Amino acid sequence: MEQVIAVLDERLANPGDTLPVVGHLDEPSYSLGDHDFTLPQGIDYDLMLTNAGEGILATGMLRARVEGVCDRCLEPASFDVAGEVDEYYLFEEPDEAAYVDDEDEEMDFSLVGDDNTVDLTDALFSALLMETPYVVLCREDCKGLCPVCGANLNEEDCGHAAQIEAEREQARLEASPFAALKDLKLDE
Ligand SMILES: [Zn+2]
Ligand SMILES: [Zn+2]
Repeated sequence: MEQVIAVLDERLANPGDTLPVVGHLDEPSYSLGDHDFTLPQGIDYDLMLTNAGEGILATGMLRARVEGVCDRCLEPASFDVAGEVDEYYLFEEPDEAAYVDDEDEEMDFSLVGDDNTVDLTDALFSALLMETPYVVLCREDCKGLCPVCGANLNEEDCGHAAQIEAEREQARLEASPFAALKDLKLDE
């Protein structure tokens, strides 16, 4: 991923100072798990840097149009991502005692770079991943592919689903203890 580095200047010199960071990334694609996604319009971000005394707080939103493949029918699927960015960059590495709240729970933070910059790349990328669904669907009620013939059930009804249902019904009837009675002929 392209690096997003913000330079901290005098506008952020004092606690309470804020600096908007708005930008666009021409990132073409990314992947999550087994999924590959393309970003036809890249990534837009709209952040606010705030001098919070001990460090710089980066908050705001990331937006992207994402294109992938539907997990059920394998047709193209696209969705919009709006991810929340929330990252804290400390000016100095804190004493261990200061940031360990709990014995095993460490506070999540990054550090301001030696050259007085904050690297927003990871914060943006995690916001994108966080809002990317694990199951990608072309639409919520996608019917998927027929397990028998592979037909796209959103486009056609090949009839296999009804056939499978009928066979199941038949099997259920045959398994019933009353099934034998059906063929029983009473002697006259
Ligand atoms: Zn689908
Ligand atoms: Zn079928």
